[in-house]
Amino acid sequence: MTIEFITIGSELLAGLTLNTNTFFVGEKLADVGLTLDRQIAIPDDHDAIVSTIQESLTRADWIIVSGGLGPTNDDITKKALARVFNRQLVFHDDILAMLKERYTRSGRPINPHLETQAVQPSGADFIPNDVGTAVGIVLQEGGRTLVAVPGVPREMRPMIANYIVPRIAEAARVQSGSLMWSTTGWPESRLYDALQQLIADNPQVTVAFLPSELGVRLRFTASGPDRAHTLAHFAEVARPVIADALYAERDVGLEKVVADLLISDNRTVAVAESCTGGLIAKRLTDVPGSSAYMLAGFVTYSNEAKVRDLGVPASLIEAHGAVSEPVAKAMAEGAIARTGANISIAATGIAGPGGGTAEKPVGLVWLALSRRNGSTDSREIRLMGDRELIRVRASQAALTMLLAALQT
Ligand code: ATP
Ligand code: MG
Repeated sequence: MTIEFITIGSELLAGLTLNTNTFFVGEKLADVGLTLDRQIAIPDDHDAIVSTIQESLTRADWIIVSGGLGPTNDDITKKALARVFNRQLVFHDDILAMLKERYTRSGRPINPHLETQAVQPSGADFIPNDVGTAVGIVLQEGGRTLVAVPGVPREMRPMIANYIVPRIAEAARVQSGSLMWSTTGWPESRLYDALQQLIADNPQVTVAFLPSELGVRLRFTASGPDRAHTLAHFAEVARPVIADALYAERDVGLEKVVADLLISDNRTVAVAESCTGGLIAKRLTDVPGSSAYMLAGFVTYSNEAKVRDLGVPASLIEAHGAVSEPVAKAMAEGAIARTGANISIAATGIAGPGGGTAEKPVGLVWLALSRRNGSTDSREIRLMGDRELIRVRASQAALTMLLAALQT
């Protein structure tokens, strides 16, 4: 799907008007996952308009043109369109009637330019203009579509947002398909290394890496009549390669996947947190319906609270420090003992920026997972980033550990 945008207006090239229409079109297309392939600004000049549109028609599936539709501008765009598409400019009664009706309704005197605005290329479709008098023009030929809208930003914006972008998005959906996967725990570079060979072997699939602080989403796109089969095949070969990082074959947060599993297994959870300050509990309760599985979250920031609220032996903290494997395990076990949950997760670490030592640097986090009447596992992680990032990533690692336990 190739999309080009041509802005017509000498003022845009002369540094008199900022080309905000291009920005707006780019933004609206981005909202539906599309981008312009090219944008071209040209002066109010008949020959320039004709040759630029002709050239775009050799490349683009969709061409959007803005400007030069106003009656005072000698109808320069309409004349050029009639020329390029080999159409007559004919009088459209329905357009005049619609414009007159609007003027009458608002009690304004009929504008002498209205007659001019009703003269349009034959065989075109029109986009109503609720703000001004120049209608949008839609011309189709050989599978390519050109839409021309007024240059006035206030008039073109509703046409772009409400009519043109939805139609392009619809056409793009029919032509191509895509899959979105959610991964966590692996940096973008590691995912890329793992998938590199598959990407090279499957040039018909476009892979986009969409990283955030919680992980990397992967979008696989394919077009053509075989796209569904192409994507299914790619998914089949990619799945085992990144299985350790892949937590959902859709665009979804980790807490939602954990919540769905807890609900379907009819299990309950409790959380014991120190460095994450309640973030794990917060994320587990972000999911609507969380009361079905979430029993309690303990934010035991001080040593005293760990002892008092979770029953962590004071001697354990004394011997190993609050950020340690034994204390993390005791926190997780205490959360089970105090709530009767089926499973619990605990996190204790050093979020920084201060408080780190050579032995226990900033970013060191101990996680522990305990099962009622069962074993307690632990995991040491070392995170990079500022305080906020370390806390967010610690919560993500905790939810990852919880998910792995629920899946076994
Ligand atoms: P119309 O634009 O309504 O089809 P026209 O081109 O004859 O008619 P102009 O007077 O040239 O109208 O432009 C209308 C207003 O819209 C002007 O203020 C102009 O600077 C502004 N404009 C045109 N194109 C753009 C653009 N790409 N970005 C921002 N403003 C624009
Ligand atoms: Mg103009």
